[in-house]
Amino acid sequence: VIKEKHRNNYNLFDSSISENFRMRLTLETELRKALREGQFELHYQPQKSFSTGKVVGLEALLRWNHPQKGYISPSEFIPLAEKTGLIIEIGDWVLHEACKQNKAWQNQGYDPITVSVNLSAKQFHQRSLVDKVKDILNDTGLSPYYLELEITESMAMSNENYILKTLKDLRDLGVLVSIDDFGTGYSSFKYLSLFPITKLKIDKMFLNNEQQENKAIVKSIIHMSHSLNMKVIAEGVETMEQFAFLSQERCDEMQGFYFSKPLPATQLTKFFTV
Ligand code: C2E
Ligand code: MG
Ligand code: MG
Ligand code: MG
Repeated sequence: VIKEKHRNNYNLFDSSISENFRMRLTLETELRKALREGQFELHYQPQKSFSTGKVVGLEALLRWNHPQKGYISPSEFIPLAEKTGLIIEIGDWVLHEACKQNKAWQNQGYDPITVSVNLSAKQFHQRSLVDKVKDILNDTGLSPYYLELEITESMAMSNENYILKTLKDLRDLGVLVSIDDFGTGYSSFKYLSLFPITKLKIDKMFLNNEQQENKAIVKSIIHMSHSLNMKVIAEGVETMEQFAFLSQERCDEMQGFYFSKPLPATQLTKFFTV
């Protein structure tokens, strides 16, 4: 009986490995197809200024509108896209689409606002990134002042010369750079003050009210950002209490379900001013 059981387990294990591998291959093939067939979409989440009460920016968030499975969240396919390198092509599409859409809104006569695009590590570390951004801005006609690139702490905090060069070249071009999910990684004060970064995005985990020390952390991040001449935005704001606290602490901007979830491009113009 024991022998039998072992054999079955072994077989089960074996087939689950190949099953996993098969699923990865399928997903990879499907991702390529999605890119070819235009199954990717951008949704946009508005970012509201505390001082003016106006929407001053939008974060572009990738969605895969799968013909059978419906909308698939980026956290489900970005890791594999990173691994296979497909993220470069997907990322190029995102950058182009976000710039094109933002320019289209400006052409319709709305007051210009910033569009933020999330960069993956592979994209940020490409030596051709700055030229690519330049080309996309030229191509779409969007002014660099209305494009923000979001990177994470782990992508930026390094003494590699080309990182500082990339950030300076982006700044010279006029493109804004923010640090996403701030506080969850390993930032160094040295690099934070050295690098031309325009904004910190406080990670939503610090808005959790159950942990009292989070309030102290949020206050510190806000004060530090301002001391270093950076703006600061809170992500994942869901409640009136969080909103009031951030406003009282002089946070510059907020985004979160409390104000609006990410929406398809057709549903954003109600937030714009003319
Ligand atoms: P992120 O850049 O930190 O984006 C914020 C995430 O929080 C989004 O999840 C957004 O829908 C969600 N969110 C917004 N407001 C709230 C709120 O009030 N409460 C809660 N619980 N969540 C909120 P989403 O769209 O699923 O994206 C997940 C992550 O996938 C993003 O995190 C970003 O790291 C990555 N991502 C999204 N689009 C792209 C892209 O075009 N390229 C790359 N490389 N990564 C992307
Ligand atoms: Mg982001
Ligand atoms: Mg992120
Ligand atoms: Mg974030």
